[in-house]
Amino acid sequence: MKENTFDMIVIGAGPGGYVAAIRGAQLGLNVAIIEREHMGGICLNWGCIPTKAMLRSAEIFHLLKNSKDFGIEAKNIKYDLEAIVSRSKGIGSKLSKGITHLLKKNKITSILGEARLTAVGQVKVKTNDKEVELFSRNIVLATGARARDLKGFEADGENIWTYKDALRPKIIPKKLLVIGSGAIGVEFASFYNTLGVETTILEVMDTILPVEDREISNFAKKQFEKQGINILENSKALAFNRKNNSFSVKIDTLGKVSSLDCDTIISAVGIVGNIEGLGLEGLRVEIEDSHVLVDDFCKTNIEGLFAIGDLAGAPWLAHKASHEGIMVAELIAGGSPHPIDYKGIAGCTYCFPQVASVGVTEEQAKENGLETKIGRFPFAANGKALALGEQEGIIKTIFDVKSGELLGAHMVGPEVTELIQGYVIGRKLETTEEDLINTIFPHPTLGESMHESVLNAFSRAIHI
Ligand SMILES: Cc1cc2nc3c(=O)[nH]c(=O)nc-3n(C[C@H](O)[C@H](O)[C@H](O)COP(=O)(O)OP(=O)(O)OC[C@H]3O[C@@H](n4cnc5c(N)ncnc54)[C@H](O)[C@@H]3O)c2cc1C
Repeated sequence: MKENTFDMIVIGAGPGGYVAAIRGAQLGLNVAIIEREHMGGICLNWGCIPTKAMLRSAEIFHLLKNSKDFGIEAKNIKYDLEAIVSRSKGIGSKLSKGITHLLKKNKITSILGEARLTAVGQVKVKTNDKEVELFSRNIVLATGARARDLKGFEADGENIWTYKDALRPKIIPKKLLVIGSGAIGVEFASFYNTLGVETTILEVMDTILPVEDREISNFAKKQFEKQGINILENSKALAFNRKNNSFSVKIDTLGKVSSLDCDTIISAVGIVGNIEGLGLEGLRVEIEDSHVLVDDFCKTNIEGLFAIGDLAGAPWLAHKASHEGIMVAELIAGGSPHPIDYKGIAGCTYCFPQVASVGVTEEQAKENGLETKIGRFPFAANGKALALGEQEGIIKTIFDVKSGELLGAHMVGPEVTELIQGYVIGRKLETTEEDLINTIFPHPTLGESMHESVLNAFSRAIHI
């Protein structure tokens, strides 16, 4: 056997890659992982975790400013931007070091360097000072994605930002334009608006948070507007005039052109897969729109070559990436894992109020001709939400009339990103309305609203 031969080689140590490597090692595989930047990938260093740390700072700032509502007096409330950013960075790097430790503990060979496929089963890695060749019959591509550039609004790191710049601001903008209202755009809009930045969200579709159930995105929109965020839907940024450090952005809203002044733009219009420099063309790996094409088991068109996570397409979520990592490692170790149930993957947005969902929306159920029963329950009628001072929100549940199956759950309100897992488990266990109706939810909890929403679908809600 050649030197540097492994049972599995993983390229990229984001949540997809490092989880695949650890699961492989647990199953007795001799694993190597290659990472060119940070262990933990975008998720720990530039995505999920640092954004949530920053949003928490904004939330505390908001609470302190409104402490009077809770009978507490706090004066002279200020934030320290440098300290907010440094806390967020610190949490990311602590977790990243944790991944290095876990890889070591599992006896995985970790190499810091840029990897490239040179032939089927062959990887060349350029490290700081040398090139090494590795060999394996099973190679997992987990190279993730980066921000998509919007033509004419390419990030400059100064006043036109990607998520990376938005996570490391040196000064706080006065007037901010966020282009794109998916989870990333809306979370940054919530963060900066809460710190007092005049914020506008621009969305080309006819609704913000376009993947969510329409009723939920409309509810969130009203809350954002109440908080002072300006929202322009059906609107496209055409071009801008720049004068010193400010922009006049030309906007087309259904054919009507207007202009908007701002000093900072966050471009949050999606992502593109990191396919460059990987040697994919040489191997004729099938690619579509910057993502590697895979089957239900994340297999590419090349024998022994897998692609997982953001590189392999939507949904672009860390938990999708890591679950694909587990599935692929089990497959390589000779197991028979189930393919991923993509319909069972919840999406969470950590704006204020939070948004979370799983399964089909009311619109999708209608499009598919499904006969449904729909329940709703407002947090305004939930004691715990009132005690927390966070009564703005609603839980909506959608059931199939014929089978009683929970088709979808859609939430906006306090801690819904934590609550949604209850419905995710319910769906996984193929729960029916009867099981949910007969489940006893503890009191007082936000979760009681989940129960009441189900009861409401069957005209049995108690508290409305
Ligand atoms: C601002 C922001 C907030 C987000 N918030 C959430 C959230 O709250 N919840 C959620 O689920 N998702 C969130 N995401 C998405 C989440 O970060 C991604 O879905 C997840 O990181 C994808 O994991 P991955 O393993 O596919 O790739 P990544 O995390 O992108 O990791 C890929 C790794 O591969 C490395 N790499 C690339 N090419 C090479 C090469 N040739 N050689 C060696 N190494 C290479 C990269 O350096 C990187 O470390 C967020 C994303 C952003 C940008």
